[in-house]
Amino acid sequence: MLFYYNGMEKQFSNGKVLRLVTGDITKIPADAIVNAANSALAGGGGVDGAIHRAGGPSIMQELDEIRRTAGGCPTGSAVATGAGRLPARYVFHAVGPVYRDGKHGEPELLASCYRTALRMAEQRGLESISFPSISTGAYGYPVAEAARIALREVCAHLEKPGGSLRLVTFVLFSKADYEQYAEALEAVTGEDAIE
Ligand code: ADP
Repeated sequence: MLFYYNGMEKQFSNGKVLRLVTGDITKIPADAIVNAANSALAGGGGVDGAIHRAGGPSIMQELDEIRRTAGGCPTGSAVATGAGRLPARYVFHAVGPVYRDGKHGEPELLASCYRTALRMAEQRGLESISFPSISTGAYGYPVAEAARIALREVCAHLEKPGGSLRLVTFVLFSKADYEQYAEALEAVTGEDAIE
């Protein structure tokens, strides 16, 4: 069932919740916040820059260590750090694909980012996780397509019984992105909007 409030919510029959909101992901408390990182884990603009600015230097220090030992993070995967000053316990740095034409494995790599972050949350027994719209900024993934992929993965995960995650929130930075995600959620769930 879909509910509207200051955002939009899908409640699953097992009590788990998927939420879409507009806002700044660094300001919304969650057990884990997902970053749209790059494979060098080098920091950057967009949501990556916002997370490092708000979270402080400890996040980059932890990434330096991961870079030293692992060299970086492959596209489609993610690494975990603490969250510094962010209102969270962890940041999962997920590396989305750079969009070319959709025929170079981008859909599967993007789906894999979401699956990996969800799995990392479950492994740590977390109850809540927030995602930005991975790959749809500097990496150029068309928002409507990315939204369907993201929401399909998250819905498939939340539909399953068991697990620790109770709340998954997408924090969309613009009203336009929010509207694309809202439309995609309706398509993915096959339910009609209740205004
Ligand atoms: P990518 O390189 O994966 O495309 P970007 O950071 O360029 O990552 O963009 C991903 C999305 O994050 C874009 O929709 C962008 O508008 C959004 N974004 C930027 N800053 C924030 C923020 N503080 N909170 C949530 N989303 C943000």
